[in-house]
Amino acid sequence: MSKKIQAIRGMNDLLPEDSDLWTFVERTIADLFISYGYKNIRTPVVEKTDTFCRAIGQATDIVEKEMYSWNEANGDSLSLRPEGTAGCVRMMIEHNLPREGIQKVFYQGAMFRHERPQKGRYRQFHQAGLEVFGASDAKVDAELMMMTHSLWQKLGLTNVTLEINTLGSSEARKSFRDILVTYFSAHKNLLDEDSLRRLETNPLRILDSKNKDMQSLINGAPKLMEHLDDESEKHFEKFKTYLNALDIDFVINTRLVRGLDYYNRTVFEWTTQDLGAQGTICAGGRYDGLVEKMGGKPTTAVGLAIGLERLILLMEEQVIAIKTKQISIYIITPSDDAQLKSMQIASLLHDAIAEVIIYNDISLGSLKSQFKKADKAGADFALILGEEELSNGQVSIKPLKSQEPQQTLSLDKAIKYFKDYT
Ligand code: ATP
Ligand code: MG
Repeated sequence: MSKKIQAIRGMNDLLPEDSDLWTFVERTIADLFISYGYKNIRTPVVEKTDTFCRAIGQATDIVEKEMYSWNEANGDSLSLRPEGTAGCVRMMIEHNLPREGIQKVFYQGAMFRHERPQKGRYRQFHQAGLEVFGASDAKVDAELMMMTHSLWQKLGLTNVTLEINTLGSSEARKSFRDILVTYFSAHKNLLDEDSLRRLETNPLRILDSKNKDMQSLINGAPKLMEHLDDESEKHFEKFKTYLNALDIDFVINTRLVRGLDYYNRTVFEWTTQDLGAQGTICAGGRYDGLVEKMGGKPTTAVGLAIGLERLILLMEEQVIAIKTKQISIYIITPSDDAQLKSMQIASLLHDAIAEVIIYNDISLGSLKSQFKKADKAGADFALILGEEELSNGQVSIKPLKSQEPQQTLSLDKAIKYFKDYT
């Protein structure tokens, strides 16, 4: 026998047994975003490497060490997308979309980062993200919180915390940078290798170091919150006022700087204690300068991305049951004569009921084994096409999840019965 072929480490298959949960989550997200007026967009999985370097920033984990990049024969460097915002901004500029007014868009898809695989951290993972272009008021930042807050409720999730911070204007950040460099330079002996490098390239990022030995040094660092420009301070106050008015709880985390360079003003993360170290399920913020930096007209923007694998892990921790369709029916066909009829009936049921799953038995096994399969599929009803039923132009319905008795009806009445059930 030849050696078995395996998937690449950190890149996972979606197995049939997990399909219901994924489909439920992705549909719930898409339906919710659409209900707030967002339009679905798709951008290529591959872009020029420069698109990501310019957007995300050179001195970030992603660009420094996590991208899958290669050279084409003509010398172009291309990369698999590590996140969705860069491609989305590239698309907006290329198609002149911000010129048509405020743009609200969302995407779902695979992202690629060369990280050390562990629970909640993979090399191919999936994000659902949304972006708003051309709206600078804190009202839209709050709308993103309102939507995500509502999403956790729709999914049945609890124990998620909203952490917020503001990064101010780029000018305020620049002068704060000097204050921070002075502080950390005075404690160089306590910095790890990464942080020493960041002291030169991107000192703000030292604040989000996960190194335990550096936590007390970081806790004692000056706070950007205390060096804000007036406009950003007002913006942040307004953001908090909206959250309070919406009854959305939050905590201010002054160390929240986010792993990507493009943010200003509002930044936020939804986190949970239930997933161990990989506890951030959704993250984002404002990036008012990015469109211009990428070659477009100055356009304010704000967005977020949800890590779907982490969301699914949390669903598995917390949520007992989900229902993907309102009703599921298993058609039991004990004889050869029943096969044709079962196809016609399945077709009628699909036409008549929108929210239905129909399992039309294709094993052609014994009555007993077909009932077993119906149970295994988790069907609500068995629809039995026995010999007697067939000769009388009838079907039998057996509820599989309640003690109600089996009943025999005409096909029309059976369809009505199922429709009334949904
Ligand atoms: P982390 O600090 O966990 O590395 P990040 O700041 O790199 O996260 P973002 O770039 O903000 O993450 O991505 C948004 C969300 O996508 C994260 O909050 C997380 O839920 C998810 N995510 C990021 N990287 C991965 C990964 N390698 N595997 C699975 N999910 C991920
Ligand atoms: Mg990361």
